[in-house]
Amino acid sequence: MSFEQLGLRTELLRAVSEAGYSQPSPIQAKAIPVVLQGGDLLAGAQTGTGKTAGFALPVLQRLSEKAPQRSGAIRALILTPTRELAAQVEASFRLYGKYLPLRSTVIFGGVNIRPQISALRKGVDIVVATPGRLLDHVGQKTIDLSQVEMLVLDEADRMLDMGFIHDLRKILGLLPRNRQNMLFSATFSNDIKRLADGFLKAPEMIEV
Ligand code: AMP
Repeated sequence: MSFEQLGLRTELLRAVSEAGYSQPSPIQAKAIPVVLQGGDLLAGAQTGTGKTAGFALPVLQRLSEKAPQRSGAIRALILTPTRELAAQVEASFRLYGKYLPLRSTVIFGGVNIRPQISALRKGVDIVVATPGRLLDHVGQKTIDLSQVEMLVLDEADRMLDMGFIHDLRKILGLLPRNRQNMLFSATFSNDIKRLADGFLKAPEMIEV
């Protein structure tokens, strides 16, 4: 299996090859086709498996295939439990998306909110965020989630462990109903299953 065979566009293939990846990891080989076809995904994957590219590559590809409903609107939202992970994930979107005209930004707490507000004001396609600070922006009306087409919950089990369930439910309630969802988790407790049942539509389940 090669990245070419997964059907990724040349801009992404070039970025992946420059990153030094010679072939997709198992999670990438399974997740990328599902997401490219527009289906919801429930993925069991630990860190270090290459799960970030497993969602970032097909999210970038799908966004690049369709013009936004409204220019400057946020079209993909990625939620992570910690600011370190949010920063890493956003760096991956920048790396893999470097030959595509898509913009991303990262939002997390513990730092001044104002630079985040000006980044959002310029217009971004992809936002990687931790739940609490995202809701601060919602409260201040500095973010518009009404055009989100794709949602990723990364390390969902850690988000629940950190007590983010109410924040997550609030955020889910602010998104358009018609959207594609992906949930990545290393473990599957009853709480994760309940969360997944509540918002994934006929998800493809994959595990590595
Ligand atoms: P992740 O599990 O997403 O945190 O990725 C773990 C590490 O694997 C990162 O440093 C990636 O740069 C690297 N990586 C991701 N996909 C591949 C691949 N197909 N081949 C080689 N390395 C990869």
